[in-house]
Amino acid sequence: MNTKGFSIDREHIWHPYASMHNPPPVCDVHHTDGTHIVLQNGQRLIDGISSWWCASFGYQRQEIVEAIREQAAEMAHVMFGGLTHEPAQQCAEALLALLPDSLRHIFYADSGSIAVECAMKMALQYQISQGKTTRTRIVALRGGYHGDTIGAMSVSDPCGMHQIFSGVLPRQFFVEQPSCRFDAPWDEKSFAPMAEMLHSHSQEIAAVILEPIFQGANGMWFYHPQYLRNLRKTCNDLGIVLIFDEIATGFWRTGRLFAMEYANVVPDILCLGKTLTGGNITFACAIASTQIAEPIPTLLHGPTYMANPLACAAACASLKILQSADWGKEVARIEAKLRQTLAPCRQCPNVADVRILGAVGVLDVRHLPTAETLQKIVLKTGVWLRPEEHFIYTMPPFITRDDELERIARAMEMLAYA
Ligand code: PMP
Repeated sequence: MNTKGFSIDREHIWHPYASMHNPPPVCDVHHTDGTHIVLQNGQRLIDGISSWWCASFGYQRQEIVEAIREQAAEMAHVMFGGLTHEPAQQCAEALLALLPDSLRHIFYADSGSIAVECAMKMALQYQISQGKTTRTRIVALRGGYHGDTIGAMSVSDPCGMHQIFSGVLPRQFFVEQPSCRFDAPWDEKSFAPMAEMLHSHSQEIAAVILEPIFQGANGMWFYHPQYLRNLRKTCNDLGIVLIFDEIATGFWRTGRLFAMEYANVVPDILCLGKTLTGGNITFACAIASTQIAEPIPTLLHGPTYMANPLACAAACASLKILQSADWGKEVARIEAKLRQTLAPCRQCPNVADVRILGAVGVLDVRHLPTAETLQKIVLKTGVWLRPEEHFIYTMPPFITRDDELERIARAMEMLAYA
């Protein structure tokens, strides 16, 4: 263990959602490979959550590492204002080949949160271009999560971790979480709160933003595809822009290339990120339909590192990996294995619900273990997990073997009993 580094870390470096005066325990990582995080002391941990759901094809994929290396040797970065380059164009070509025909105009962003900010700006600027200047608010779902910047926080669950900022965030409209489960018979009543909101405030609403099918960080909840079909129709009827945030759900995570395919619905603006670079470099995008993009005179966003060539090259290589294997089959295998291995967790009194779809397995628990207990169990089981809110969950890389999934499930069970 690198003790000097460790004390610098504890004294000077902030970690996500952490305190500086009482920092939570952290594990010191030496390197990553395949499905593993390898610690400084040589211990190998199976990564049960794909580094916050982005390393979906596993770590250190040579195709991606090589692409970054080659790109770095030629041009690591150049500004995108007034200039363009091949990596950005190739990445666009690869994305357009995957996307529905109506989504054609790509804005490259530095992170998922920024892609969400851009999507909301697009929607607001679109409404302004239509003379609808009273349409300044966004509708979002309770249990939703869209990022940590101010705008993204304003559309994330208002009772979640961003609650402390409620006084300073832009005021948006919230609708209750879709109540009809993904696998239950459709219940029309579950769309009623959204219908009521959209109809009663249509002249104030620029857009609806939501995570299709699977609400991640703040909900770990799978809801019925019919909700999205009803939403698409209502947005069309009322001139409201529909934004899907597929930053977490995109690229096969839920068992379809994009979760929206379960509903066969296409939004006006789509956000992608995370797995876009196979978990190698921060990168995301917001992609608009021509109907939204064309009337916007100048989209008012332009970050310094926009379309960073290293990120574009990583994304191109990652999208090639996406095309090179039958990931749908791998994710179906993972889903079946999670159904089998997480079934015993239903007996645990701490577990209120077990939910599985695609390569996502969730134990909805009444209480979570402390950070110290979590670390002990991680080191004992050799499985990296990071429960949040009241969820113990796994979103493993798609290359995770059945015996590794077995170990992940047992570690989750141990956490539920802790
Ligand atoms: N949207 C969703 C659905 C997410 O899950 C996340 C990240 N967990 C974000 C947006 C924000 O992405 P980033 O952390 O890259 O800013």
